[in-house]
Amino acid sequence: MVHEFDAVIVGAGGAGLYAALEASKTAKTAVVSKLYPSRSHTGAAQGGIGAALGNLDEDKPEWHAFDTVKGGDYLVDQNAAMILAEEAVRSVYNLEHMGLPFSRTEDGTIAQRRFGGHTRNLGEAPVRRSCYAADRTGHMILQTLYQQCIKNDVEFYDEFQTVDVILDGNKVAGIIALELKTGQVHVFRAKAVLFATGGFGRMFKVTSNALANTGDGPALLARAGIPLMDMEFFQFHPTGILDMGILITEGVRGEGGILRNRDGERFMERYAPTLLDLAPRDMVSRAIMTEIARGKGIRGDKKIDDYVYLDATHLGREVVESKIPDIADFCRTYLNVDPAEKPMPVQPTAHYAMGGIPTDVHGRVTDGTTTWEGLYAAGECACVSVHGANRLGTNSLVDLIVFGRRAGQHIAQYVKDVSMPQLPDGADERFRSFYDRLTSPGSGAHPGPIYQEMQETMMTNVGVYRQAGKMQQAVEDIARLRNQFGELRLEDESPSFNSDLLGILELQNLLDISAVTAVSALNRTESRGAHSREDFPDRDDPNWLKHTLAELRDGQVSIRYKDVDVSIWKPKPRTY
Ligand SMILES: Cc1cc2nc3c(=O)[nH]c(=O)nc-3n(C[C@H](O)[C@H](O)[C@H](O)COP(=O)(O)OP(=O)(O)OC[C@H]3O[C@@H](n4cnc5c(N)ncnc54)[C@H](O)[C@@H]3O)c2cc1C
Repeated sequence: MVHEFDAVIVGAGGAGLYAALEASKTAKTAVVSKLYPSRSHTGAAQGGIGAALGNLDEDKPEWHAFDTVKGGDYLVDQNAAMILAEEAVRSVYNLEHMGLPFSRTEDGTIAQRRFGGHTRNLGEAPVRRSCYAADRTGHMILQTLYQQCIKNDVEFYDEFQTVDVILDGNKVAGIIALELKTGQVHVFRAKAVLFATGGFGRMFKVTSNALANTGDGPALLARAGIPLMDMEFFQFHPTGILDMGILITEGVRGEGGILRNRDGERFMERYAPTLLDLAPRDMVSRAIMTEIARGKGIRGDKKIDDYVYLDATHLGREVVESKIPDIADFCRTYLNVDPAEKPMPVQPTAHYAMGGIPTDVHGRVTDGTTTWEGLYAAGECACVSVHGANRLGTNSLVDLIVFGRRAGQHIAQYVKDVSMPQLPDGADERFRSFYDRLTSPGSGAHPGPIYQEMQETMMTNVGVYRQAGKMQQAVEDIARLRNQFGELRLEDESPSFNSDLLGILELQNLLDISAVTAVSALNRTESRGAHSREDFPDRDDPNWLKHTLAELRDGQVSIRYKDVDVSIWKPKPRTY
């Protein structure tokens, strides 16, 4: 079946919905999503969205932009960070005017709280910048934008798994999607396509990410010849629920929660004397892993899976129940711990992809040399780059609403001036031959063990602390697993809701993303932000102040580079 739209948006999280909302003002727009929009992972975002509204403390977009650049260890493109911070303010008010029920101050303005790395006057002291709706900020953003899209007559194709992009040279012509309910293959022909498929934390064993976060967009664009940028930078959030990785928002520390080791010591005093528990995430994750390595984790056995406590007991029941109600529920449900009475056991959890599909500030996919016409990306799957080597908390939601909106606005203009592209012959051939191989006679391996081994090797060897030998091991493991993947066969060939097929498609994407991540990490011989190498402990600006572009061809990853925009602030040592 062939559909025709001016604009097709792949993904119905915050980035996709904001882009669809803007595009639909002039363009006939479809959103194709493997999940129902309201189940997108944006709904899990708890702590808040950063914007220098200055409702409780003096604040300015320039300070927000500076914190973003410093937080990202100077790998951030600085003009993009300035756009992020300046447009955050308008975008938050836009959401408020669309009906988003933000928490309020006593005098009725949008409430704001502290988050890691957000400071006043270029690092002087913490500032309250995060706008929030209790600990359900992402959920509220998703509901608000979805309602607006419906009002704007955006057409939704829910539970459609996009399996390929159709390119004619460097110009987009559409996408291929599998309808999960029927197993039917659909072709969407379009003048513009935007990928907003979210993150890929599922390549790690302990992660805050949902099962669906499998990097589909970046992987299928990589297979189509588009390089991925800065994939070595993957953020580990310091406070995941022990063994499960489910997130305990930084908002808990923003409200005054304290990290403690087995002696009850507030160990962040030694690692970040000014910002303490609200230092950026890479630093706090490393501090926890260092405490564990010193035998100061709660078990004290120095093993990588030891943990520390996040203590909120001194905040009192009223604060816990009103400011972090969902967190309190998670802890009672999963840990049998009431955070108003007992500290929460936490450990770092794979959380956020700083790297992804390279774009300019209008969401156009570009590697700096080639721009793919009509092809856009936004949100966590994209790399503008405003997060550099380490994203500050609350800046992802800002990224979605600023750059999702900008990309949608650009698409609305772009589609006015171009004609509907022709579909190249055999547009769906790549997917059809993949499917034929999966259903060809003979028995094959099961995807389960491959999935498990991939997550284990990535967690152990490409985690918070890294070194050459371990990353080399991951590169080899992933290469072997990709070979085994080639032997898989579908056990269940039924057309309707074939979760076997879906699992295999997602595993292929994760394996490709893991390969690119491990090679990019091995290649960067310095420590910067979340990429922390024991064998190269220092940041090396003369050699490494550059973005990685990693291309995947015939299963091999090759690397080249792109300049970083450092036109506003000169890189300085990063202390807090
Ligand atoms: C637990 C948690 C808490 C967080 N809290 C915060 C916070 O407080 N503040 C903050 O700034 N950030 C936070 N983040 C990060 C932030 O929530 C995410 O980075 C952001 O929501 C990603 O939004 P997105 O629109 O890019 O993708 P998502 O919301 O993940 O949406 C992806 C969409 O793509 C679709 N999709 C994926 N693959 C395909 C495919 N093959 N075909 C069709 N559709 C596809 C999915 O169906 C989905 O609709 C948090 C993250 C987590 C995990």
